[in-house]
Amino acid sequence: MPKRLLIVDDEPHNLEILRIFLKSLHYDIHEAECGADALKLIDEKDPDLILLDVMMPDISGFELAKLLHERPGFDTPIIFLSAKAQKEDVLRGLQLGAFDYLTKPFDLDLLEKKVSIALAHQRKVTALRQENVQLAGKAFVDTLTGLYNRAYLETVMDMIRQGAKTFQVVMMIDIDHFKYINDKHGHLVGDEVLKKVAQILLSRIDLQTDLAFRYGGDEFLVFLQDAAKRMEVAESIIQDVSSLTAESKFEGTTHVTVSVGMTCSLEEDTSIEQIISRSDTALYGAKNLGRNRLFVC
Ligand code: GH3
Ligand code: MG
Repeated sequence: MPKRLLIVDDEPHNLEILRIFLKSLHYDIHEAECGADALKLIDEKDPDLILLDVMMPDISGFELAKLLHERPGFDTPIIFLSAKAQKEDVLRGLQLGAFDYLTKPFDLDLLEKKVSIALAHQRKVTALRQENVQLAGKAFVDTLTGLYNRAYLETVMDMIRQGAKTFQVVMMIDIDHFKYINDKHGHLVGDEVLKKVAQILLSRIDLQTDLAFRYGGDEFLVFLQDAAKRMEVAESIIQDVSSLTAESKFEGTTHVTVSVGMTCSLEEDTSIEQIISRSDTALYGAKNLGRNRLFVC
């Protein structure tokens, strides 16, 4: 896909020279004769680079660059092309965040080089940004199970404290006698059991609204946004896990079960720490009553 270049200049003759030259280099060219049209085209075409004149009748190139850099996330490189050739002008353009500043009359070979440097720089910035997003995602995911990890739980708890997120139900889920599974069949089978339980949690919650975390070891936390289906969700998790032995490679090995502690109907002033602590207490209720069951508190 050819890179999109926006040329902004109030002088049609300048636009024509730039258009002919840059088209010959196989760029996709868009043109604006004033700042207002430039703003419209930037929104419509999302150019990869802007070549910007400084002296224009409506908005000056400097003002336009300032406006654009005030937009959150704006990072399209701008190269000023201007007859304003004083050192102060060049400095002002660069201070406004321009990638480069070429004074008119400019050399076309030099322009070609500057354009390709700016675009290469932008490619690197975009790749780094994508890598960052992927790394940030990984930092919040438990590598074994693919569920959210404790670090993300902390982030979600912050969002809950700030009122940016709400959940009506918290479930603490713990595998029964997991130590025995590890001891009898080895840690690799233990790991497989953890992964299977995680898959069951994901299959039973609403991925659009609910969250499942690996809380630590063989313990999981589930946040449900809507309380209506809480019993159905908890019971199906218990049922699915206890069916694991028969349907999977755990056949002939230990019977896998989970205990679930659930807290719901949360009062406005209950902190998220208190809610998690109550679901933990509920979990111990389920364990004490013989495991492989739900306890609500
Ligand atoms: P209970 O029914 O009371 O929960 O008994 P339990 O045996 O499950 O006891 P507990 O929850 O304390 O045991 C958790 C075990 O989980 C201990 C630890 O060795 C094991 N474990 C923690 N992380 C991992 C892991 O990533 N992989 C495997 N295979 N085992 C783990
Ligand atoms: Mg356990």
